[in-house]
Amino acid sequence: MGKRILFIATGGTIASEVTALGLKPGLSAGALLAAVPAIGALCDVESLQLYDLDSTDIGPEHWLGMAKVIRERYDEFDGFVLSHGTDTMAYSAAALSYLIQGSAKPIVFTGAQKPMGFDTTDSRVNLYDSFLCACRDDMHGVMIVFNGRVILGTRARKTHTKSFDAFSSINYPHIADVRDGRVMQYIVPEYDAAPTFSDKLNTRVSLMKLIPGCDPGQLEWLLARSDALVIESFGVGGLPRGMHECAHRSAREGKLLVMTTQVQNEGSDLAVYGTGRPLSEDPLILEAYDMTTEAAVTKLMWLLPLATSQAEAAQLFYTPVSKDILTSRLTGKEEP
Ligand code: ASP
Repeated sequence: MGKRILFIATGGTIASEVTALGLKPGLSAGALLAAVPAIGALCDVESLQLYDLDSTDIGPEHWLGMAKVIRERYDEFDGFVLSHGTDTMAYSAAALSYLIQGSAKPIVFTGAQKPMGFDTTDSRVNLYDSFLCACRDDMHGVMIVFNGRVILGTRARKTHTKSFDAFSSINYPHIADVRDGRVMQYIVPEYDAAPTFSDKLNTRVSLMKLIPGCDPGQLEWLLARSDALVIESFGVGGLPRGMHECAHRSAREGKLLVMTTQVQNEGSDLAVYGTGRPLSEDPLILEAYDMTTEAAVTKLMWLLPLATSQAEAAQLFYTPVSKDILTSRLTGKEEP
């Protein structure tokens, strides 16, 4: 029996048309599918136009909307393909990885750097490859399929603004390559007997990127407006002198602080330098280690409504979901 796939369109460049005000999503889900007739030979597709947005305008309410559709129609389909703008796709894929956990069925995000209607475009191949992956029995959970690469939803980051090679898998290998309609799969993602769905996100999560000499008052300001704050510090991690007192005090007042790095590869290691060690020794201050910022931010949004204490929040943060974190205080760390 052929696979049944639900195609959920949300906008993005793949669906965009040229307007006097720049590129804007305009092509319908049906028009996107019609542009790649070979998909019809792979599976039975039903399409749904969920949103029609540049992904700059996609946020937590839309992630909940995507998860809701998949939850409501989970039993009817063998897999799901979502077309989405590339700008915030890594956030959406990470968010969906927390909202829908343990899914045996593939949930594939894709998009393009050039619209479907352009002569030179990556839209067709990305859409086709996504359906190819969504039809496979050994693909599970949330992933991004883009430029011939399959990346776990918790590990993706947009690393090129223009070239077709838009996404990289950060601190974890990509799980498959797709070339000329063939999938070479290296890693089979884990899944559970039944998926677990969540329908709440706490949006009072902020991100602070340090610059040299930045005003410590910015930390106070952001923490006053947030339940959780991810701080992208320098190198393996640390805070300038003027920010330590505020960080420890805010953690004691119930704020969830997560230290991470603004360096793309290899993650944080807060205990290495004097600028970070006191933070790493504070049990109320967390560390993202090898997680992406996209995963850390969306994981906090997901776990805040579930956790009844800071200890429980830490436990949830450090418990791996779809390989989002490999090293942590729970798994133990090798001492040098
Ligand atoms: N601005 C577009 C978006 O994120 C970019 C793209 O899709 O490639 O919706």
